[in-house]
Amino acid sequence: MSFKSFPKVELHTHLEGCAPPAFIRGLAREKKIDIGGIFDADGGYAFRDFDHFLKVYEAACTTLQTPEDFRRLTLAVLEETAANGVIYMETFVSPDFCGGGDLAAWRDYLAAIVDAADEAETKFGITLRGIVTGIRHFGPEACKPAARCAAETKGRFITGYGMAGGEMVGRPGDYAYSFDLAREAGLNLTCHAGEWGGPSMVRETIRDLGVSRIGHGIGAADDHALIDEIMEKDIVLEVCPGSNVVLKAVSGWPSHPIAKLRDAGVKVTVSTDDPPFFHTTMTKEFEMLQRTFGWEEDDFNALNRTAIAAAFCDEDTRERIGRQLEETQ
Ligand SMILES: [Zn+2]
Repeated sequence: MSFKSFPKVELHTHLEGCAPPAFIRGLAREKKIDIGGIFDADGGYAFRDFDHFLKVYEAACTTLQTPEDFRRLTLAVLEETAANGVIYMETFVSPDFCGGGDLAAWRDYLAAIVDAADEAETKFGITLRGIVTGIRHFGPEACKPAARCAAETKGRFITGYGMAGGEMVGRPGDYAYSFDLAREAGLNLTCHAGEWGGPSMVRETIRDLGVSRIGHGIGAADDHALIDEIMEKDIVLEVCPGSNVVLKAVSGWPSHPIAKLRDAGVKVTVSTDDPPFFHTTMTKEFEMLQRTFGWEEDDFNALNRTAIAAAFCDEDTRERIGRQLEETQ
């Protein structure tokens, strides 16, 4: 079956990472920025491995220079995401890419993103919420202004704080200050861990950063004690199988541990991470899960329920999206 119109909830995307390549090329042309080296012959993003992916990602971000650029980006991303049946999405937004960590500049960028999200909700029927993100490989000091921006702009739209970027830079505890600051401001917390770092990185992230969700977390799959701890603490995994396959965090779809984690009782959700980079959409993720693991409509309905229950939005939004999901089951 085609899952294109099947309603979906996804919790783990990066706003700039969702940018259609044609959109970035258009901006580069307008601004006369030379970023030609980041595309392949077909016009898609081209990279060799995870470190190169981060470089290509940051090069694409150099075209996003003003709040207006982010307003246009948000609209383009939400139109594409809604076309794949997503009715609720959370996205990582980084003050580092939106004004270099300056709070006043961040407020301007955020206002433009929220403006576009409201317009997209009316036009395309998709609800967006934002999670402010520190960039791990920029270092613990650089994550502090990001956490301050998060704390100062917590509200209907900004509901969480998280950390993305190169997972093998530093240990989770090095970043505790930023997470403590965000927690004290009442923000929900998530962090990328266990994409590359294995069980010890997941364990330390839970212990030192006190997150309620883990981005990826697949490195926990073979550690039974850690799986027990994840379930005991009711931590939800934001699993991005297509991303893991393309970046070779796993050897292929058949060996992806999402089914094993789910069968063990872990709360898993499915997201696209940076869809055009990984040649994926939520429709394709659902199709591959059906083809690889035989998941059916009931499984995807359960996946959606887990995701909306773990969403960082306010309760009114959660109930509204939950009702929408029920009506279409
Ligand atoms: Zn991610």
